[in-house]
Amino acid sequence: MAKRRRAMSEDERVANARSAAAGERESARPSKGASADAGAPSAGDGKVEAKRAKEPMSVSRRSLLIGAGGTAVLFGLGALRYAGHNPLVRPPGGQDESHLVSACVRCERCYEACPRRVIVPAHVEDGLLGMRTPALDFGSGWCDFCAEGNGGVPLCVEVCPTEALALPEGTSAENTILGLAVIDEQQCLAFRDTGCRYCYDACVNAGYDAIELSDGGANPHPRVIADKCVGCGACESVCVSLTTGSIASGATERAIVVRPLETL
Ligand code: SF4
Ligand code: SF4
Ligand code: SF4
Repeated sequence: MAKRRRAMSEDERVANARSAAAGERESARPSKGASADAGAPSAGDGKVEAKRAKEPMSVSRRSLLIGAGGTAVLFGLGALRYAGHNPLVRPPGGQDESHLVSACVRCERCYEACPRRVIVPAHVEDGLLGMRTPALDFGSGWCDFCAEGNGGVPLCVEVCPTEALALPEGTSAENTILGLAVIDEQQCLAFRDTGCRYCYDACVNAGYDAIELSDGGANPHPRVIADKCVGCGACESVCVSLTTGSIASGATERAIVVRPLETL
């Protein structure tokens, strides 16, 4: 069941933020985040209470304030770009960049819920207003939408307390597109007649068949079929170009990289 995306009023955002803060103070995080709290002293531990009393402000509290500040000043992607913000590849339900940046309270619940550990905080270099919002890093993993066994809702969407991650009404994990894989032919090893096809195999294994091999004779070249690519990142996560020569020719990223649709 897809969660309903809607524009939230300022009052609703503040109410949601307060609710999230209250939830964090009064109870442990959701079950997927339980590991982070495992072994933590009990609430009755006097030392812990004393330590907390010394802290000027908890991370969660700061996060909520940062989110509220972002909400107050953002009105759309145009404003974000004006502020020097780069669109990023986002977890499912975060493809409306302006909505995500304004609604996210930086609570980090989605990071903790992700079974594949592919959600990372956006860096300040990507724009101050979007700092610490959730982005996808396919350096060593990919997004399988993890909706099976969860009522069709990805876990990151499920745990988001403010609907910053929310599948648009009428959509599902199956028809959500995170981005588009793009191949740099200057850096791709297959275009150097090495026979490399790691990305092709990864895409097939992920169940998409969005890369075809063509031309090149005995050493065919990969080509992304845009209509079939969902931006899952399986191809990027296995591309060996950086460790097999392309750094020497000036590459700073892998030969196949998922890009946000807004940037293409
Ligand atoms: S859908 Fe699942 S695998 Fe993909 S980013 Fe969200 S939690 Fe991680
Ligand atoms: S894995 Fe990388 S280097 Fe190999 S064919 Fe695919 S894009 Fe090219
Ligand atoms: S990002 Fe696109 S091309 Fe790459 S594995 Fe996923 S569906 Fe295939």
